[in-house]
Amino acid sequence: MLLLEKPRSGKFSPLGPEDRFCFDCQDECMGRCCRKTNIILEPWDLEVMARGLGLNTSDFVDAYAELQIDPETLWPYVRLRHVADGPCAFLAERGRCRIYPLRPRVCRSYPVGRRVVIDGTNAAGEPALRASFFLLQTPQFCLGPRGTRTWTLSEWLETSGSLEYFRLSAEHLALKALALELKYHQWWEGPPHMLHMFFLFEPDLIREEFEISENDVGHVEFYRRRMQALRLLLTDQAARQGYHLETTGGGGEVCALDLTGTAPDILDWMLSVLRGEKPGG
Ligand code: SF4
Ligand code: SF4
Repeated sequence: MLLLEKPRSGKFSPLGPEDRFCFDCQDECMGRCCRKTNIILEPWDLEVMARGLGLNTSDFVDAYAELQIDPETLWPYVRLRHVADGPCAFLAERGRCRIYPLRPRVCRSYPVGRRVVIDGTNAAGEPALRASFFLLQTPQFCLGPRGTRTWTLSEWLETSGSLEYFRLSAEHLALKALALELKYHQWWEGPPHMLHMFFLFEPDLIREEFEISENDVGHVEFYRRRMQALRLLLTDQAARQGYHLETTGGGGEVCALDLTGTAPDILDWMLSVLRGEKPGG
């Protein structure tokens, strides 16, 4: 299953860490890439941007974005809203980004894209992701490839600050892949769906609700724990619906954590995961 950033056309040529390419943003076309572009924010993008602007994520979404649900997979995502005449709301004078240090992953890593495929299962029987990087085909107006500066892929990812974003994005994708594997979109609705949104997109509310401060748990770790708690909820709910994951070649043994009848309360388990008191499975 292909999950992300398919090359628009042409053949797909993966980039190795030391492969070089030429790219240098030019004053002449500065900001053209920020007009009428569809920018999808992952949960980590959203919380970094909101925090940097001194907003909670709900207020950020109200002001600058919209929360949407993919009609096929029911997976929620956030789209950056554009101003009425097209450009991104953060585009400033002379084509500069008003929130450059906070810009989301896709803006950071451009023109490097990432292709992700599900490649069997990992030791826990969960979908394993295999990612490769490639150069996106740039539109004609983008003069970056005509610049003289060259980069290796490693230099580009490091300099743009994309690496941690890609790592967290892979964890988010693995969660989504697990959810799809568990066919969650066939049975996931109502209150669990709200919890889903809550755990992915509302770090501030969760911290407030469960009294977990930034000093107690740092932001990256808290994001990981939220995903872990959500994975626990998904596997529990899937087990209640009769869906389990099976290992490849493991004789069909059940790997999903079936909490039915064993957990005192799934929410207590999730809270324990958030507090780092128990492994989340
Ligand atoms: S967030 Fe910044 S870099 Fe990204 S599209 Fe908007 S203005 Fe451009
Ligand atoms: S070179 Fe391309 S990415 Fe850079 S500012 Fe110009 S249009 Fe945007």
